[in-house]
Amino acid sequence: MQRLQIYRLGWGDTAGYICRTLKHLSLPLGDLVGMQIKFLAQLPHWFIFAQPGMCNLRFERTGMLIRRTTSEAATPTIKRMTQHLDICIRGGGIVGHTLALLLAREQVRIGLYVPPAPAPSEPDVRVYALNAKSKALLASVRCWPDTRHATEVTAMQVKGDDGGEVNFSAASLDVPALTWIVDVPALEAQLREAVRFQPHIEVIDAPRPATLTVVCEGRASKTREEFGVEFAATPYPQQAIAARLSCEKPHGQVARQWFQADDILAFLPMDGAQGQSVGMVWSALAARVPELLALDEQEFCDQVEALSQGSLGKLSLISPRRAWALQSAQASRWIGVSNGQSWALSGDAAHSVHPLAGQGLNLGLGDAAELASILHTRAYWRPVNDVKLLRRYERARRAAVTSTDLAMTALQQLFAREGNGWQKLRNWGMQGFELSGMTKQWAARQAMGI
Ligand SMILES: Cc1cc2nc3c(=O)[nH]c(=O)nc-3n(C[C@H](O)[C@H](O)[C@H](O)COP(=O)(O)OP(=O)(O)OC[C@H]3O[C@@H](n4cnc5c(N)ncnc54)[C@H](O)[C@@H]3O)c2cc1C
Repeated sequence: MQRLQIYRLGWGDTAGYICRTLKHLSLPLGDLVGMQIKFLAQLPHWFIFAQPGMCNLRFERTGMLIRRTTSEAATPTIKRMTQHLDICIRGGGIVGHTLALLLAREQVRIGLYVPPAPAPSEPDVRVYALNAKSKALLASVRCWPDTRHATEVTAMQVKGDDGGEVNFSAASLDVPALTWIVDVPALEAQLREAVRFQPHIEVIDAPRPATLTVVCEGRASKTREEFGVEFAATPYPQQAIAARLSCEKPHGQVARQWFQADDILAFLPMDGAQGQSVGMVWSALAARVPELLALDEQEFCDQVEALSQGSLGKLSLISPRRAWALQSAQASRWIGVSNGQSWALSGDAAHSVHPLAGQGLNLGLGDAAELASILHTRAYWRPVNDVKLLRRYERARRAAVTSTDLAMTALQQLFAREGNGWQKLRNWGMQGFELSGMTKQWAARQAMGI
């Protein structure tokens, strides 16, 4: 793990040396206030130990460093509770954690409100397809999972319900991967760990007033409701069942998707290049979902095998099955002031899209990146709740989300239409798209976020 939290350095030669090194590596410096560093050893990595009990710093050449001083950690709770927050982030999902880590670079005081989990929850069975932009963003906060938990997708096959087929390959687009399939619990654990070591972020157990509150509470956000923001949701007729499957044949780093009139099935390759397991997302008519969840494991796998045309051979479940209602929704306002409190929405609290193209979290991370970038480049005299800045954030992200949502809904509806004419049209459309060259390349690059 590579971290940096240099807080308190002495004024002597050692401190000067460390500061110069940090500058050279373009790493941020914390407050430099008096404390004598006792010992410095220069090895392949640099380790710095200060007086035991006062500070515990370890500096690795390649990355960020460790731990707050004990005097900081021992700040009385009352004092910490009354300390003013610049930004309070409500919601400890992937978007909330990532935003906190991005904003921590601004040297502002951040509170991340993570409510206690009601009961020990089971790990998320989902995997997420994350694009190159999301990968770069998560890597920038040093939270991109290792290759076993972030499998490169080098090809994608999409099949229609009457011979239509579209194929993408990383090689033809001259990119290392089309997308990465990321294990959700692994990513969440990495983000939690990074936040734990970040001195500018305080994980709080109750929301606190702040100059700006950013709501990242997901689609059922209560705070959004309290702020009186409408969130008109149009439910899709399908629900998504997600599970993990072990397969007889290796996935070969190919993401596969089958579009049928009522069903959309996706297999997302997991466990690295040689893996023989996939994350499955099956969007089926809501009325059928309870019946599919009640099937015994073998019957369920038989149905998935049939729908996937036996492409990965015999399948077996390696996780429970979970279902999600699907909806298209966008908040009526993304920013505002309620009871004197400035706020902004990010992630699923602001929008929700069909998961058929795996764009929901990519959009949420795009929100976090945009907000962090706008605050980073603001003039020094503009506060973090400056309305001009927040409006700029709202405009930029609304446009990105609306275009993705329209594309997802159009695709879902095209395949949901019954009748021979529609079936012919969509499969003909897929074949046309497959042969469209530049248009196909453009669409692929849009989805990849490059
Ligand atoms: C089946 C399925 C598959 C998907 N696949 C993909 C994919 O492949 N790629 C992709 O990009 N996206 C995908 N998505 C979308 C993705 O799951 C969401 O976009 C993403 O989880 C949104 O993250 P978030 O942090 O905004 O919200 P959430 O993940 O919902 O997190 C919100 C957090 O806030 C907390 N919270 C809730 N209420 C409060 C409160 N009142 N106060 C404080 N905290 C609160 C919650 O406990 C939670 O921890 C998929 C979605 C589904 C349903």
